[in-house]
Amino acid sequence: LEILFESSADTAHLEDPFPTLLDRRELIPLQAGVFSYQGGFLQTIEVLDAIFRYHALEMGAIEQSFGTTLPLRSLFENGYLGAFSHQALFVAPLQRRLSEIRRLAEAKTPEEKAGILAQTIDDHGQVLSPVVCYHCFETLRGSCLSLDGSLFTACARCHRRESEHESLVRLQTFLMREVIFFGRDTWVDSVRMNLIAHLRDLLLEWGIRFRIVTAYDPFFAGGHNKRLYQSYFSVKYECQLLLPHIQQWVAVASFNNHHTTLTRAYKICGLSGSPIHSGCVGYGYERLAYGLYCQLGSDLGTWPEALRSHLIPARG
Ligand SMILES: [Zn+2]
Repeated sequence: LEILFESSADTAHLEDPFPTLLDRRELIPLQAGVFSYQGGFLQTIEVLDAIFRYHALEMGAIEQSFGTTLPLRSLFENGYLGAFSHQALFVAPLQRRLSEIRRLAEAKTPEEKAGILAQTIDDHGQVLSPVVCYHCFETLRGSCLSLDGSLFTACARCHRRESEHESLVRLQTFLMREVIFFGRDTWVDSVRMNLIAHLRDLLLEWGIRFRIVTAYDPFFAGGHNKRLYQSYFSVKYECQLLLPHIQQWVAVASFNNHHTTLTRAYKICGLSGSPIHSGCVGYGYERLAYGLYCQLGSDLGTWPEALRSHLIPARG
């Protein structure tokens, strides 16, 4: 782990805001790793997204909106089912057998229904999208882009099977905005650096304790080969916030340079047929909002003016 930048802000709050968020119903648990949001927590996420969306659009990004599932083919071709297969969540319909569909409809108890389901789930041809950018790559599959650079952005729920579910740090379903960019290698890296600087300046303005590091896992967590590959090329930077109550750092944004690995997988090239590089930046909104609550406290009225002015629209 190489630390490229660390802020020196003081963090006064030493309480975990998690129980308060549950008490206030700002977080409503549904099942392990899946929450519904309302109140201040939801408002924080929306304000954060407005900020990052605006910046992406200002940089010229084309906004996209995606469905929830990806064809399995996408994960076969981009390598996800090599290094991260344990995190994939598959989606399957019932087998197309009328008798079974009827049997399920007519089953009386949940146990009976579960038993029938266990026998009739069909092949898993779809997967819940684990990141935002795979959909963007799918929209560009087989196409040619200008080497001078193009950007896309989208916000979507992402899904990963996680083994620990009792906090906001590891979620099965989480909200992420990504900015995805394509062009020459130098341009791709300059966009990545621009986006790192943008987040750094915001967090400095808000008085947040954070650091920018080179990293090996979160948005591509898993296998050993991938880890070696990433440390060798130093392809990934991460922004981490301090969680003062446990003195641990949590990744809230990731800045990736894919070089040509994903453009090759999706057969995307430059206009002349030459290879094109890609990169993506992802903002994990639950972690970011949680980190802000941990450091700034659960009373939004005491948050820094620069952030509060966005959070609480003109009252009265
Ligand atoms: Zn991505």
